[in-house]
Amino acid sequence: MPEAPDLQVILEYLQPRLLGRSITGARETRPLVLRNLTGERFSEDIAGRSISGMTRHGKLLFIELSDDRVVLINPMLTGGLRYTEPDEKLLKSVTVTFDIDDGRQLRYFDQKRMGMVYYLRPDQVNETPRVEEQGPDVLDAPLSIEDFRAALRPFRGEIKGILTRGRLVSGVGNAYADEILHAARIHPYKKKAALSGEEVVRLHDAVFRVPQEALILLREKIGEKIHKKERRYLNVHGKGGKPCPVCSYEISAITANQRVTNFCRKCQPGLLVRN
Ligand SMILES: [Zn+2]
Repeated sequence: MPEAPDLQVILEYLQPRLLGRSITGARETRPLVLRNLTGERFSEDIAGRSISGMTRHGKLLFIELSDDRVVLINPMLTGGLRYTEPDEKLLKSVTVTFDIDDGRQLRYFDQKRMGMVYYLRPDQVNETPRVEEQGPDVLDAPLSIEDFRAALRPFRGEIKGILTRGRLVSGVGNAYADEILHAARIHPYKKKAALSGEEVVRLHDAVFRVPQEALILLREKIGEKIHKKERRYLNVHGKGGKPCPVCSYEISAITANQRVTNFCRKCQPGLLVRN
């Protein structure tokens, strides 16, 4: 679920609460999500370490610990975090729990256990899947149009796939890719090679603007409820069958590779049939 704007709100909530705090204990409550690559026993090795840094790149969250340890969280589609009182009911979806020295707990939950929580030494971070291949973060300062054109050059295939892969820009998933392409008025299955110069200019504008605007909204809407999925304000994603907020035409929904793509055929023309 969390794409860059969602994860940024989670990070901003947790940073002032966790930075400088110590982890007094931690455990895996359900298997298959934690990947401990340190060679040490997780629960024993992490206890007593303090949280010295928290950063995000794209859809990845990094918690830096004292004495050469990093917790890297890749929530994928279904993962998320809760910061709770320890007596709050432990939901079945919780897979890893960290005890914090303020008496509270940081819990990683993952309905489908698709995400990963890595426990690493800092020198192992770049060996972790998806870390090295990430492009510039979509919430960072936008690339210039010239740099964006150059960055786009090596890519082939459909534009939505290029946006979600993480190499051109990092942090855009299925939902924000639909939103960006609607704002840019580009059909999601249009091939990159078929984009006009004008479309590349619109894509460049939308790719950095739409997530930034979403972040401003999400800060207000999510507040303390960092475990909640807030997607109602989106224009097209998840809105199949509803009227397009720009032109009122019915929003299309196409499912391919187990993910839904929503777009407006009127605002985003280009392809009548897709085989
Ligand atoms: Zn429309």
